[in-house]
Amino acid sequence: MNIPRNNRLDSLIFDNVSLRALPIDPETKNERRQIREAIHALLQPTPCPDPQIVAYSRDVADLLGLDEATCESRQFAEVFAGNQLLSGMQPHATCYGGHQFGSWAGQLGDGRAINLGEVIAADGSSQMLQLKGAGETPFSRTADGLAVLRSSVREFLCSEAMHHLGIPTTRALSLCTTGRSVWRDMFYDGNPKEEPGAVVCRVAPSFLRFGHFEILAARRENQLLKQLADFTINTYFPESAALTDERERYVHWFAEVCDRTAALVVHWMRTGFVHGVMNTDNLSILGLTIDYGPYGWLDSYDPEWTPNTSDSGGRYCYRNQPPIAQWNLIRLANAILPLIDEPAPLENCLQGFAEQYTRRAEAMTASKLGLKTYAEPLATSLFSFLGQVETDMTLFYRALADLPRDDLRANALVDTLYRPDVDALEALQVWLDQYARALKNQGIEDAARRQAMNANNPAFILRNFLAQEAIDRAESGDFAGIHALLEASRRPYDPLPKDSPFNRKRPDWARAKTGCSQLSCSS
Ligand code: AMP
Ligand code: MG
Repeated sequence: MNIPRNNRLDSLIFDNVSLRALPIDPETKNERRQIREAIHALLQPTPCPDPQIVAYSRDVADLLGLDEATCESRQFAEVFAGNQLLSGMQPHATCYGGHQFGSWAGQLGDGRAINLGEVIAADGSSQMLQLKGAGETPFSRTADGLAVLRSSVREFLCSEAMHHLGIPTTRALSLCTTGRSVWRDMFYDGNPKEEPGAVVCRVAPSFLRFGHFEILAARRENQLLKQLADFTINTYFPESAALTDERERYVHWFAEVCDRTAALVVHWMRTGFVHGVMNTDNLSILGLTIDYGPYGWLDSYDPEWTPNTSDSGGRYCYRNQPPIAQWNLIRLANAILPLIDEPAPLENCLQGFAEQYTRRAEAMTASKLGLKTYAEPLATSLFSFLGQVETDMTLFYRALADLPRDDLRANALVDTLYRPDVDALEALQVWLDQYARALKNQGIEDAARRQAMNANNPAFILRNFLAQEAIDRAESGDFAGIHALLEASRRPYDPLPKDSPFNRKRPDWARAKTGCSQLSCSS
């Protein structure tokens, strides 16, 4: 694994703080096992036969100080598909547990994610590079440690789309194919198929999840729990770390996690994002969107919708995301209770989550409508209308912003409805009249309203069918669809041309198509 020294990749400087600060399992054989009294397990990525770069994010490359020529080099694909290590990289997987669909699942861990090391980025921040799909780890349980192209395209594109929407998220540097086939039973119906394999390189200050704390509490490894909490606070929560009283420090930190999680879920609700698998192992301690699996974006506004076909009860549907976030925070509170010994301060924080969420969600709803102050009956009647009459959420808010206050006509919004009829338009007109009154009462002018609304309502979202179209092309070797979506996702609030392929409702063919409105966890 010797690397030539004439490439900018060699200029990456690694400082593997987390590996230095937290215990490493002494076993270095890459064998599946339960790990005790350790966070990390050292291992090597599994080499692949033919790494090829499919796409990379210029923005993340800039953050890391990598130029275009470097990202397009042979070596880049070798490194970010898992075939070569750079000096300073120390590949490792981490141990976590989690509550999956409401039940404790024990040890999960990075089953197909391999941290390569922490890079000092161009802005001085520290960024962990992590390969997803580069082979087995001690946490792979019964699975293969690999990822297929379709799910890797979805993770790569959505990470970057989220970032540009202004939503906290893990980032994606690159997407490589591996030349290795991967067997997947996409519908879990006993018909596995061979699919192209891929690796995404994810980037974030830390990939720590609620589940990292839960597993230590479940195992009563309280000393290590304290060590992990202290490391997390000292490294990522400087305001909490500045407090001298230990208990106050932990409580302040938990309050901050509650706050960030509330802010995150408000963003998801604002843009119509449904995570799909809000298990506690998929919630980031930094409040980032993490683990893009069977996620989706609302086309028509349907609060009960979840893209995840494995979630038959709709536990993780759009509407349930705020209460589920709180449920997950309660699991985290239980896990860190041994550090504080009394539940009351944590209960206060959880109460604070509910209040924070409501306050932020109301402000968000007001801003989506261009209002100065939240108007309860107006919002309630809008959501009830949107839920009853199949309406495209993204198109609706953008079209609404363009209508003059003194001429709010339902007919002008007809294209945002999936099944426009006389009743739907009448109901919409009733709401628009109510909206016009609110705008007059709050003294809101059209230009200011349009500007405020368009800054909060994206014109571009990574609609499920758009991602699926790009995946279908990619699976036949044409990556142009991926590049076009990546480019469009960089300016999601800019108006889209009327005839843009990204400026359209979900077509009928996509209504019930796999990958478009229904996704399995198979990835
Ligand atoms: P997820 O539902 O994707 O969040 O994954 C839950 C757990 O399963 C995590 O520990 C993952 O690392 C693990 N996992 C998912 N897919 C694979 C795979 N193909 N190989 C190994 N582990 C996996
Ligand atoms: Mg996960």
